[in-house]
Amino acid sequence: MDLSFTADEEAFRKEVRDWLDRNLPAEWRHKGVGGYREEEETDLQRQWQRRLHEAGWLKLAWPKQAGGRAATPVMQAIYQEEMAKAGAPIILGRLGVSLLAPTLLVHGSQWQKDTYVEKILSGELIFCQGFSEPDAGSDLAGLHARAERRDGHWVLNGQKTWSSGAHYADKSFLLARSDSEAEPHKGISFFLVDMHQPGVEVRRIRQMTGGGEFCEIFLSGAVVEDRDLVGEPGAGWMIAMTVFGFERSGLAQAARFERAVLELAGLARERGAGSDATVRQKVAQAQIEAHVFRLIGLRSLTSAQQGHAPGPEASLTKLYWSEMDKRIQETAVGVQGAYGVLAPGSQFAVEDGRWQYGWMWAQAETIYAGSSEIQRNIIAERVLGLPRGR
Ligand SMILES: Cc1cc2nc3c(=O)[nH]c(=O)nc-3n(C[C@H](O)[C@H](O)[C@H](O)COP(=O)(O)OP(=O)(O)OC[C@H]3O[C@@H](n4cnc5c(N)ncnc54)[C@H](O)[C@@H]3O)c2cc1C
Repeated sequence: MDLSFTADEEAFRKEVRDWLDRNLPAEWRHKGVGGYREEEETDLQRQWQRRLHEAGWLKLAWPKQAGGRAATPVMQAIYQEEMAKAGAPIILGRLGVSLLAPTLLVHGSQWQKDTYVEKILSGELIFCQGFSEPDAGSDLAGLHARAERRDGHWVLNGQKTWSSGAHYADKSFLLARSDSEAEPHKGISFFLVDMHQPGVEVRRIRQMTGGGEFCEIFLSGAVVEDRDLVGEPGAGWMIAMTVFGFERSGLAQAARFERAVLELAGLARERGAGSDATVRQKVAQAQIEAHVFRLIGLRSLTSAQQGHAPGPEASLTKLYWSEMDKRIQETAVGVQGAYGVLAPGSQFAVEDGRWQYGWMWAQAETIYAGSSEIQRNIIAERVLGLPRGR
């Protein structure tokens, strides 16, 4: 493991910081980072995306021939860390930018690359992800949505669920079964579906956080042209694996958790819980875990920098941070005593209820991008070599 940064990496860090100083207005900091106000903040996230795109940051990791900077994994981690430290908003089209655009570079036709990639990066086209179904989440290969060839195009029927941001998306990258005779993994195709058409209905799912950023998508005769089929018919599962590779290789954000622990310590002191031995131990434990998380991140970075593709040990990182965040948020709600039950935005809620929101949201973190149980299965079988469970 290499714990030091080179002079070039330190110079890159300064470049990011200087750019942020010039381009991230004070009133945008710590806004638009998700939360129960997300509905008021989509404009800000769209504007921020445009600004990042114009400055070339959204192509940081891309090869130079595709207009990127071919940034090393360490540079990408520095970029992420500086964005988190500055409290930069998240971008509205994050699924398109981080998952679909790089997948199209690998599997898309020239027409798809020319038509979609720049528009995805600039935020002109917002994509959502239509993979999960009511009976197909962890077991995604069991999906039922059907795609049939009819009158020279594809006709889609079925239901998708948990699609983040589908209510403001222009298009969806979506999996549907195009061959019901083939083995489950082989009969799936990958489509780019126009969300603004009569055969697509989106219904928002109201969550316990008060937000409604997830949606159900009902497909009843939705039409997709051939040019919006990515890869060959039946290649959808292989293309989805590329998407998952980008989803799970998200670089660790130790800074986010280190800041959360400092804020937790401040909250505990302010609520008069700082002298409670149990609280002190929980806060100290959180500090240790956040530090260990930084070290795990540096180990993964060293491996990535040496050219190793992220392997099943990416599951360790996902499992570790999502379970750690749940504990941090739970402690923060606990130190508020009876105030801990006040909903975000309530008149007497501590810090406007942001920890309560964080606790509720953290419950989702151990589900998306592979639940904790799925990560443990992967670690057991592919890292520890234990026999496959039934
Ligand atoms: C915040 C968030 C955002 C999301 N955004 C999107 C999106 O934009 N697009 C999209 O398509 N989907 C999205 N999802 C859906 C997500 O991919 C699924 O929730 C996830 O794959 C789990 O599937 P499921 O909810 O159907 O649970 P299930 O797969 O039904 O699992 C239920 C429980 O059983 C456990 N379990 C399942 N299989 C096994 C096994 N083999 N061994 C042990 N335990 C098992 C799980 O761990 C879980 O505890 C999102 C989910 C969340 C929480």
